[in-house]
Amino acid sequence: MNRKVIIIGTVVVVVLVIAIAVPIAVLTGKKEDAPSISQRAAQVLEETPLVDGHNDIPWQLRKYYMNQMENVTLDKSNPEWHTDIPRLRKGKVGAQFWSAYVSCANQYKNSVRLFLEQIDVIHRMVDKYPDTFTLATTAQDIKDAHKAGKIASLIGVEGGHAMDSSLDALRMLYDLGGRYMTLTHSCHTPWAVCLRPEFLLCVVSGLSLSCMLDVIREMNRLGMFVDISHVSAKVMRDVLNITEAPVIFSHSSAYALCDNSRNVPDDVLKKLPKNGGVVMVNFYNDYVTCRKDATLGDVADHIDYIKKVAGIDHVGLGGDYDGVPRVPTGLEDVSTYPKLVEELLRRGYSNDEASKVVGGNLLTAMEKMEKVAEAKNNVPPFDVYINVDETCRPALDGL
Ligand SMILES: [Zn+2]
Repeated sequence: MNRKVIIIGTVVVVVLVIAIAVPIAVLTGKKEDAPSISQRAAQVLEETPLVDGHNDIPWQLRKYYMNQMENVTLDKSNPEWHTDIPRLRKGKVGAQFWSAYVSCANQYKNSVRLFLEQIDVIHRMVDKYPDTFTLATTAQDIKDAHKAGKIASLIGVEGGHAMDSSLDALRMLYDLGGRYMTLTHSCHTPWAVCLRPEFLLCVVSGLSLSCMLDVIREMNRLGMFVDISHVSAKVMRDVLNITEAPVIFSHSSAYALCDNSRNVPDDVLKKLPKNGGVVMVNFYNDYVTCRKDATLGDVADHIDYIKKVAGIDHVGLGGDYDGVPRVPTGLEDVSTYPKLVEELLRRGYSNDEASKVVGGNLLTAMEKMEKVAEAKNNVPPFDVYINVDETCRPALDGL
């Protein structure tokens, strides 16, 4: 063979090798570069704190331990409950609104004392596990806790009977760390109607929109989310007409998919872009499918639906763990949130959209709510006295 043939031969071989090797390298490289769904979910939860709107573990602490924290071992697995520290960690929970709740049966009796006890037990739970929990009262606190690898612990006051129609008591709930108050639980208050009239515990004449206006104004001034889960659809609409700050539904789903009045009707969903509020989707089977059974996919359907009607900026998560007897297959406890994030990604959500759902939207709403309060820095506390009908409780002695 002459030299020329050898050179041409060599060139051909080199070209062939490149022609075969490069696409293989590109393909293999691509395979390595494109993250899997579970890797993407992990990345979302690493970058954005997952904020859940409602967890009732403090109620379980009362029910099973009479709030005696020394006997509680949340750091060990507890299959009886949906929540313990190992599973919160596995679920990559970044922030949790712990619910301070007591039953409506205590309204007009000792509800303020009992709510104080529930707020106290949340503080003591946080103090007992300082490596895991840290108390949070601002959006920045949530971000800081996430960076520090801790679970930001916020206090949500579930039920307007906590303030017993006293704006003074409301201010103290805020000072103790309360960052939302659900206007009602399953009973009316003298100033807000719950969704279940049969739970009317006392006859309140002339339920007054102006009293609710006072409460909401004061919550806006303080920087406390007005939570309109549990209220009637009329109150949802009234609140959205009154409030200057974004609202939340700390644990409600879409009424169009399950027509339980705990869920949010379409016309209210459509008002959320203007308000900036967030519907934090409830996982309770009975609110998800209106049946006893439900799946993770059914919950994702609610997220999809709220995204479609209200927009991607107005949906979040409010699992209601340890407050409900049935949760969907696939979302059995607080360790399962990453599976839900994976499902959203599988349905075509971008990482950015998934981040908004898991916590980004709540953080944005909270920052807006804080700004509204900041702008009212010079507004003095409202000195309004809300009259409670004497059929509910005798007037105070000495007044
Ligand atoms: Zn509830």
